[in-house]
Amino acid sequence: MSPMLHEPRRARLLPVTRIWRARERPGRPGTNPVLRQFGRLNLNHLTNADLHSHSTVSDGTLAPEALAARAAAGGVQLWSLTDHDEVRGQHRAREAALALGMAYLAGVEVSVTFAGETVHIVGLGIDPDDTALVEGLARTRGGREERALEMAAGLAAVGIPGAFEGALRYVANPELISRTHFARWLVDTGHCADTSEVFRRFLTDGKPGFVAHRWAKLGEAVHWITESGGLAVIAHPARYTRFTPTEEYALFTEFKAHGGQGVEVMTGSHSEAERIKYADLALEFGLLASRGSDFHAPDESRTGLGTLPDLPGRLTPVWTALRDRVHFPAP
Ligand code: AMP
Ligand code: MN
Ligand code: MN
Ligand code: MN
Repeated sequence: MSPMLHEPRRARLLPVTRIWRARERPGRPGTNPVLRQFGRLNLNHLTNADLHSHSTVSDGTLAPEALAARAAAGGVQLWSLTDHDEVRGQHRAREAALALGMAYLAGVEVSVTFAGETVHIVGLGIDPDDTALVEGLARTRGGREERALEMAAGLAAVGIPGAFEGALRYVANPELISRTHFARWLVDTGHCADTSEVFRRFLTDGKPGFVAHRWAKLGEAVHWITESGGLAVIAHPARYTRFTPTEEYALFTEFKAHGGQGVEVMTGSHSEAERIKYADLALEFGLLASRGSDFHAPDESRTGLGTLPDLPGRLTPVWTALRDRVHFPAP
């Protein structure tokens, strides 16, 4: 073959190889020219998205700005703050992300009750100012204080008084007192060695500090998210350990029927086997795949922001369907 026939092929192949190898330098997201196209981050070639994390606006220990800095330092290219049932950190998170050169998707993690179990639905690319979403989330947050008082009464009955006041000291958003805040207080007061021990001994179903709660309905959560322009994602599906296979199948089927479109495959709470299981399920149900650390606190989270393996290549990343909802940093 003549060299003329070889040349164009090599010229076409080279950029693809460069794109596969392209990685942001840690601490300098958004600066790699190969990952940009037309002055914007190229969503088709982006891999380091972290689309699940918590700030002090819910049960994380870092403010949105500090969390953004940590995400950027971890090489995250596309970030989302997904506080539980709350969007009041969204504007701060977006501003901080863009100033650090990261693309941003507005997010939330809605608590849902499905088949008697608590399920979390992440909303990505939502409009944090959407009235129906904001009001729905406010209703979902309602009742947390009463629940916390009941939890404290349960703990007092087994010899641990003062838990409500104790947990409150860890709360930045008074509408969002959660089990995590009780867990931190129980660890710091020496009742348990770490938060997993707290949940195992005190805060899960059947234990003295557990109080069942009725959260939003699955359909409501999916509708609030999608009607505000976002995409609904089943969070950490392997964590719903009380579901029978039939209940899990029902969750996926009903979620799709309501208009849900994604599932977390790469999350801090999945084992390697669970990643494979939910990658298969994503394909079976025709769902887009998401990736997020579920980072809460530097000394509690096993998975750092932006440190998970890439999504398996056979899956379609959620962010490719959220092109119009991404806030891009200035080129
Ligand atoms: P709540 O919304 O008040 O029911 O609290 C739920 C939160 O508790 C979750 O978002 C996690 O941050 C935390 N959590 C639940 N289970 C565990 C566990 N086994 N270990 C550590 N944290 C947990
Ligand atoms: Mn949490
Ligand atoms: Mn969750
Ligand atoms: Mn979470």
